[in-house]
Amino acid sequence: MELQYVSTRDASEVVSASQAILKGLANGGGLFVPTFIPKMDVSLEDLSKMTYQQTAYEVMKLFLTDFTKEELENCINRAYDAKFDTEEIAPLVYADGAYYLELFHGSTIAFKDMALSILPHLMITSARKNQIKNDIVILTATSGDTGKAALAGFAGVEGTKIIVFYPKDGVSPIQKQQMVTQTGDNTLVVGIDGNFDQAQTGVKKMFADEDLKKELDAAGYQFSSANSINIGRLVPQIVYYVYAYSRLLANDKIKAGESINVVVPTGNFGNILAAFYAKNMGLPIAKLICASNENKVLFDFFRTGVYDKNREFILTNSPSMDILISSNLERLIYRIAGEDAKANAALMQSLTTEGRYEITPQMRQALQDFYGNYSSEEETGQTIHDLYEKTGYVIDTHTAVAAGVYGKYKAETGDETPTVIASTASPFKFAKSVMTAIDASYAKEDDFALIDKLSEISRVEVPRAVEEIRSAPVRHKTICAVDQMPQVVRDFLK
Ligand SMILES: *Cc1c(COP(=O)(O)O)cnc(C)c1O
Repeated sequence: MELQYVSTRDASEVVSASQAILKGLANGGGLFVPTFIPKMDVSLEDLSKMTYQQTAYEVMKLFLTDFTKEELENCINRAYDAKFDTEEIAPLVYADGAYYLELFHGSTIAFKDMALSILPHLMITSARKNQIKNDIVILTATSGDTGKAALAGFAGVEGTKIIVFYPKDGVSPIQKQQMVTQTGDNTLVVGIDGNFDQAQTGVKKMFADEDLKKELDAAGYQFSSANSINIGRLVPQIVYYVYAYSRLLANDKIKAGESINVVVPTGNFGNILAAFYAKNMGLPIAKLICASNENKVLFDFFRTGVYDKNREFILTNSPSMDILISSNLERLIYRIAGEDAKANAALMQSLTTEGRYEITPQMRQALQDFYGNYSSEEETGQTIHDLYEKTGYVIDTHTAVAAGVYGKYKAETGDETPTVIASTASPFKFAKSVMTAIDASYAKEDDFALIDKLSEISRVEVPRAVEEIRSAPVRHKTICAVDQMPQVVRDFLK
């Protein structure tokens, strides 16, 4: 049976999976969601014998039903190959009472690689299926990790161009260096005078700009999005929750059917939404634990039913989670609103005009599987420090936000359910914050100097992705104001 995708804001906009991947965002600003969440059709025992790639096929075939087996396997095999530094792709590491699902073994050492290494292949395949002649222009706003992972995925891919906007003071030095050294004539990296939300709003405006769309079409281009709102990002992220479960089962850590909890350090709500989809496919997940940093909009939302972005934007040491508008939350809101596009659209309209919305008591009832909490900057540092002292295992700042929240959850509930923590970045990517948390005297040294020290104390080799950028020349120097973004795009595509 063909699975269709519908806009969260307009029940009459229905497309195939490949069309949803190509469009990214629905007309009128809605997000595409599957009309139902398919159930897994292989047993947990069978899954426990599968490789990452085989698991990916079993999950993705249920969502991308207009792809042939050959097409999908081809995409999977091109994505999850030697770009990853381990054959397991996403290994589980046990430390201090939790399983860390390491999602950072791809080419940019952060979890965005899990989806962005496959998205270009899904997109090109989708373009072919839909007889698209235009080149595809990927337009992305990034708070740090998405940008580089998208650049790495799309660089040099024929028939595509990619333009990445980042907040010029809102990413780590290593994140910035990774992006501005990007090679590939089809790539452009631009710093903006503004924060991530402004960058994202600027990109959304361009997607909605009909004049710009016509102009590009005449020149043989069309926009698409690599942001986490694209269904082609979301679906590959479901895979690693299924894989994590099957690894626990294969290694006799749990029995088939036994429930696990997952803890996800959350920004745009894409990663945890994928876990929610996995649960709804039948994977035995009990609690979905949503961890925020000091930008704790989501914690407040789960506590009160009010989503309110009217607050100070805080720059933290977990910059990929410094977000006040969690775009993917809309997919959950749509679902708990009974898949009512009108009700959802009204709430999103209120978010646009008032900066806030409140859900009904009935909708709150449907959120019982979620638990939200946050870690302060101080708690995050303490978590890194204590875990290292206790076990020798070093985690990055984002993962530490999640580990800290897991500690709070356990203290509050006493719940001993086996728990998987999504480990979303390599500590090497945030070497300074991580090393300073371990020992404050490292604060004097710069990120790059600390990388070798981190390697020494963690007994982990310096990742290839970090080695590479140490010597690479800067290729992208453009900085612009938020309102100049469309002009920068026009100039690049001339
Ligand atoms: C993007 C990112 C997150 C947040 O993930 P969302 O899917 O946006 O919630 C957390 N940690 C790291 C390292 C990231 O790059």
